[in-house]
Amino acid sequence: MMNSYSMTQLAASVSKAMGIEAPEFSAASIPSVDSLVQNRLGGKADRVLIYNPDCIGHWFWQKYTEMFLPVEKHVQLAVPVATVMPSVTPVCFGTMYTGAMPAVHGIRQYAKPVIKIDSLFDAAARAGKKVALVAVADSSMAKIFAERPIDYYILPYDADVTAKTAELLKEDNYDLIVAYNQEYDDMIHTYTPECPEAMAAAQHHIDAFDVLATAAEESWKEHNGLIVWASDHGNHLDWDGHGNHGEYREDDINVIHFYGAVSAK
Ligand SMILES: [Zn+2]
Repeated sequence: MMNSYSMTQLAASVSKAMGIEAPEFSAASIPSVDSLVQNRLGGKADRVLIYNPDCIGHWFWQKYTEMFLPVEKHVQLAVPVATVMPSVTPVCFGTMYTGAMPAVHGIRQYAKPVIKIDSLFDAAARAGKKVALVAVADSSMAKIFAERPIDYYILPYDADVTAKTAELLKEDNYDLIVAYNQEYDDMIHTYTPECPEAMAAAQHHIDAFDVLATAAEESWKEHNGLIVWASDHGNHLDWDGHGNHGEYREDDINVIHFYGAVSAK
């Protein structure tokens, strides 16, 4: 069974939490996120951190649930989400941040052109928010949302992204920070989805989230904030002996997203 909430709903959920207009072509927000923000933060988060670990599927969380304890200590809500087709990185992140289907945002295959339609980055900047996008060089996230009036930190690899994001959180000059990591995706394609290298990479993403969420909680003392874990798609072990994704199958389509509300002290 495919999850019933859609990747098209994250952009509106975060926009609503921030008290800004959603991107122009976005689907509606996720009711459980709205209610978390209402109940825990009185309806508004003026700081948001979104951590994007590439390729961690719903099945991975179902099978290795205990690994996620360091994530779960920072969050109150797990949201099952179905991503879009084809379930490859630029298509899925295109939808995550525009709230629009691939036919609307324009990336319908594995390619990394700059998306021209309205996105969460545009909507936040328009509302006067300061936005930082911290991503690995040459990745989809480093490319498809270029040319926005936001600050870009494009760095060699995951550890650089995590360190820079932690630094930005401590400085507390941004309203919205998006951080992208990719080691798990790299390892599943090089090897397999559950090989020691991939398991270590998934652990690195969990640890990075823990570090960043802790930094956010410490530096947002005067702000209500929202912390989000959001993968783009899952994966499966393919016939050729490597991990892969892109198909319409539960392992690729279903992901789990986490939301944590941080109240001002
Ligand atoms: Zn991906």
